[in-house]
Formats: sequence, C-alpha cells, structure tokens
Amino acid sequence: MSNFKSRKVVIVGAGAVGSDVAFALAQSGLAEEIALVDVNTDLAKGQALDLAHGAPFYRTVNIHADTAPTAYRDAAIVVITAGKAQAGPGQTRLDLLQINARIITSIVVDVQGVNPDAIVLIVTNPVDVLTHVARLHTHWPRGRILGSGTVLDSARFRWLLAEHCGISPLNIHGSILGEHGDSEFAAWSLVHIGGLQMDDYCRICGKCDFAQRRPQILEQVRRSAYHIIGYKGSTSYGVAMALTHIVRAILRNERRVMTVSAPLEGEYGLHDVTLGIPCVVGANGIEEVIEARLAPDEMQALAHSAQTLKDSLAQLD
Ligand code: NAD
Repeated sequence: MSNFKSRKVVIVGAGAVGSDVAFALAQSGLAEEIALVDVNTDLAKGQALDLAHGAPFYRTVNIHADTAPTAYRDAAIVVITAGKAQAGPGQTRLDLLQINARIITSIVVDVQGVNPDAIVLIVTNPVDVLTHVARLHTHWPRGRILGSGTVLDSARFRWLLAEHCGISPLNIHGSILGEHGDSEFAAWSLVHIGGLQMDDYCRICGKCDFAQRRPQILEQVRRSAYHIIGYKGSTSYGVAMALTHIVRAILRNERRVMTVSAPLEGEYGLHDVTLGIPCVVGANGIEEVIEARLAPDEMQALAHSAQTLKDSLAQLD
C-alpha cells in the first residue's frame, strides 16, 4: 500500500489534458483530493465545479480549484500539464520550448519551496526535455521528477498490435522507447504476446508476414498525435488514462514497469539525457531504471533518440 499520508493530487494546467486527467482520476477512486491550478483561474474554477457536480456518481473525492504555491503544500503528486500548446505567428518550436521550460521551471521551484517530498509528474511537451530541465533546476533525487515519457505511445503500440493480431491488449507486452516524439522507436525484441516472444507467436499464428507490417505500425504510433490533433485539435483521453495509470502506480506503490521519462545515469551507455525507458514505478516515483537487453539496431535507435534530445537541450538558454 501507499506510503503517503495524503492522497492529494494537484493538476497544474486545467486545459484539455488537465481536465481529462482530473475526470479519469475522479472515476478511478484513487485520490481523496484533486486540486486544479491554472493561470486562467476562471477555467480552473469552471472545470472543478463541472467535475464536482458528478460527486454522487463516483467515490468520494474533494475536487476544487486552487492557487499556487499553497495548493502544493500537502500534495502527494503534482501533475504538470501547464504550458503553451500552440505557436503563434512567427513563433518557432524553439521559442515554444523556451517558454514552456520557463513555465515548468517556475512551477517545480515553487513545489520544491513548499513541499520537497512531493512527486512531480511532467506531461507538458516536449516532455523529455522539460523533465530534464526541471530536475536540473531542483536537484531532486532521480525519480522524484518524472515525465509521462512513452507510456501513451506504448499503449498506442499495444492497441495497434492487439487490433492486428486479434488479441486483447492486456495480453500484449511491448514498449515504445526514447523520445516522446519523432525519434521514438519500437523495441521489437521485447514484444511478447500471451507470454510468447513475438517471433515465436508469429511462427505459430502464421496468418501474415509480420516483418512487412512492423514499419507501418511504428509509423502509425509516431503519427497518432498528429492524426488526433488534425481531427479534434488536441489529444487528451488517452493521455489522461495513461497518467491515471502512473498516478495509481505511485499512490498504491504498485512497482509497475512502465516507460516513463527517466534521467539516465550510465544505463544503456547514456548520460545527461532524460527519455522514455522501462522503469519500475512505485511510491518513490522511479524506483529503478531497467536496463533491458536491446537488439543492436534498437541500441542505435536509442542513441539516436538521445542525441536528438541532447541537441534540443543544447539550444535552450
Ligand atoms: P491547453 O492549452 O488546453 O492547456 C494548457 C493550460 O495550461 C491552459 O489552460 C493554460 O492557461 C495553462 N497554463 C499556462 N501557463 C501556466 C502556468 N504558468 N501555470 C498554470 N497554468 C498554466 O493544452 P493541452 O491540450 O491541455 O496540453 C497541455 C500540454 O500537454 C501540452 O504541452 C501538450 O503538448 C501536452 N501533452 C502531452 C502528452 C504526453 O503524452 N506527454 C499528450 C498530450 C498532450
């Protein structure tokens, strides 16, 4: 069970992602208190009221809007979805990165000032770079500031494999690793279906030449967010469920393996970079980074993804 005295979760950023996380978390019955914080205080108030009106239909949870930094004081977990989502005219991706880095840094410094025991879960994009920057500014122990990493991408991957194979995603284990973004890759050597290594499963199944399908499935994972944003403007339900899964692992000390964004300290031969990698997640956030034995081409893809992230970091002020 949990080590926490409090099961309060603060969600910073009450936009599309923040409000859907609050909704999914309320349904889960995991939290005793959910506080929404946003610079747009009316938005936070409106979302909190709307959610609170569902109180008779889910397990007791106190949902309310609050302000920083007081809201952080007694929080077990602070989930950060705050940031600028879109680039205005003439604004580059780098400008956006600089702006979001400043926003995230000021939030984590505030959290640290009033509650150095909290666990911070960063969602705002680019999530890997921002998680790295947040830790550099706070020097908190590894694992206490983690990013949502490729947990959502891995869920999309499992769903696509499930659809292709006609097997429940619950029986499919597989991970997308590296950057939550274009340089992410599928760790095919780690995929298992119903306990069988994927190549063995395919030999028994024999319905398709799966080697041909692999690049398409990876591309579908990589393009998922672009497709959804094209259709509806933002992605929020999938990530909300992924975040609830991470919050559950922390609050209930589940020690689940998931591909959160973790700072590497020599694992996989990499230093000074934070990216999506299999980790044991429990009451202390990242409890362990798992150094899986990847195939040589996967090690190369990981090194490439790490370099991509280091290049982004190097551009920051
Ligand atoms: P949104 O624009 O709907 O919401 C962002 C909210 O942050 C806004 O309400 C804004 O007022 C608030 N905000 C801005 N600065 C703030 C500050 N300093 N303090 C408090 N609140 C502040 O955006 P969204 O669609 O909810 O997306 C939020 C972030 O989540 C984006 O960066 C998006 O790219 C990211 N995202 C990440 C994943 C993932 O898997 N990591 C998935 C989906 C979206």
